[in-house]
Amino acid sequence: MIVGIIGGGASGMAAALAASQNPGVQVLLFERQARVGRKLQATGNGRCNLTNLYAEQTHYHGEDPTFTQYAMKMFSPKETLGWFENMGLYTVAEPSGRVYPYSDQANSVVDVLRFALERDNITQYLGFDVQKVRFADDQYHVTNGEETFACDKLIIACGGLAGTKLGGTMSGYKLLGKLGHKSTRLRPALVQIKSSWGGVVALKGVRSNCYVRIARDQEIVSESTGELQFTEYGISGPVVFEVSRDVCCGIGEWTAWLDFLPELTVEQIVRLLERKSILPICAEELLTGILHNRLGKVLVKSAGINGNRLVGQLHTEELVTLAKLCKAFQISLTETLGMDSAQVTAGGIFTEQFDSNTMESKLMPGLYACGEVLDVDGDCGGYNLQWAWASGRLAGLSAGKDKA
Ligand SMILES: Cc1cc2nc3c(=O)[nH]c(=O)nc-3n(C[C@H](O)[C@H](O)[C@H](O)COP(=O)(O)OP(=O)(O)OC[C@H]3O[C@@H](n4cnc5c(N)ncnc54)[C@H](O)[C@@H]3O)c2cc1C
Repeated sequence: MIVGIIGGGASGMAAALAASQNPGVQVLLFERQARVGRKLQATGNGRCNLTNLYAEQTHYHGEDPTFTQYAMKMFSPKETLGWFENMGLYTVAEPSGRVYPYSDQANSVVDVLRFALERDNITQYLGFDVQKVRFADDQYHVTNGEETFACDKLIIACGGLAGTKLGGTMSGYKLLGKLGHKSTRLRPALVQIKSSWGGVVALKGVRSNCYVRIARDQEIVSESTGELQFTEYGISGPVVFEVSRDVCCGIGEWTAWLDFLPELTVEQIVRLLERKSILPICAEELLTGILHNRLGKVLVKSAGINGNRLVGQLHTEELVTLAKLCKAFQISLTETLGMDSAQVTAGGIFTEQFDSNTMESKLMPGLYACGEVLDVDGDCGGYNLQWAWASGRLAGLSAGKDKA
């Protein structure tokens, strides 16, 4: 039996290795780029956060996150680690549950997968950009316009649109679309957000722990706590990535409310500030020692306090205004950075058109899909690759098991 796989990324490689476990299966792996795992090589800032020990369903999004349940049960993070260990990869877990190769090099992950793919019953077609799939005579005919291969089973593992420069493409959605499948709206997720607030440039590079609430027309649509970083165009960092999937600028007015001291109440902050009133320092230094110096100065100015005054001269009401600002600093948002900068695509092919126990299409027998092309996206922290491995493996095992 011939199992074709379109896409030599994370999920496609996992699918190829799983399908090839059946010696009666010949795997044909089609990859449009010159090598497999190109995006994988850039993941985790070149370190590849390959899974997360706490990859529960709550970390996944889409129309129906329960779709992930079976694949993740069959191939949990523990199984992922065992699988990689068998391929010779030594990994290390951080307290947050994020797992990285011990070498701290994403290359190591790509390399062990590449070596594992060197099997007699796997043939790789690199630089093979699948343009069209035609179903005829019970087979899927896969072509790049020049060469055509007939496959008994076909797995679409083309990934999403995110990370365009690393190979993100519409291809998978289009191929599945031509075979009768529909997609939800696609939008960038795990991505930076632009702000029209003029102060961001002065804060470029400043990091702070932050409770972020995102509002559309004053109504909160998303919230999260974590590290925020100011950039020359807006805000970035893990907490911003988390809320970015819910930001859809263009419709309504978008605002971020930033709480730079989420663990303290306004009263506690005021008490901290009052302690400084005996010091012979200027008001612009009021938040020094509490927040990043540059951020502190911006907040003092935004509270309407003249930075040259002595702290001892400030009134309690001014300290309360400043404390409130530390807890609810408002900046306007214009848009997210595009798919180029996004780490994952929110949205994708409707999962209800697939069987979650096999990853097989309910519309086209013998056709499977896995990874990011489906309407599943995970939080930042190794969850997206865990989904790619788990869904790819399930698709490969199912396709490899099926009778021709
Ligand atoms: C910069 C960046 C950093 C990231 N870091 C992390 C991280 O640290 N941890 C994490 O969990 N996730 C991370 N992600 C997300 C993660 O990389 C993806 O979710 C994951 O790779 C998706 O796997 P996939 O197999 O579905 O798609 P991909 O890995 O994108 O693979 C799809 C493959 O299909 C090929 N292809 C597409 N169309 C065709 C066609 N028509 N013919 C032939 N080949 C085709 C593509 O060239 C590509 O190689 C990151 C993403 C980016 C962009």
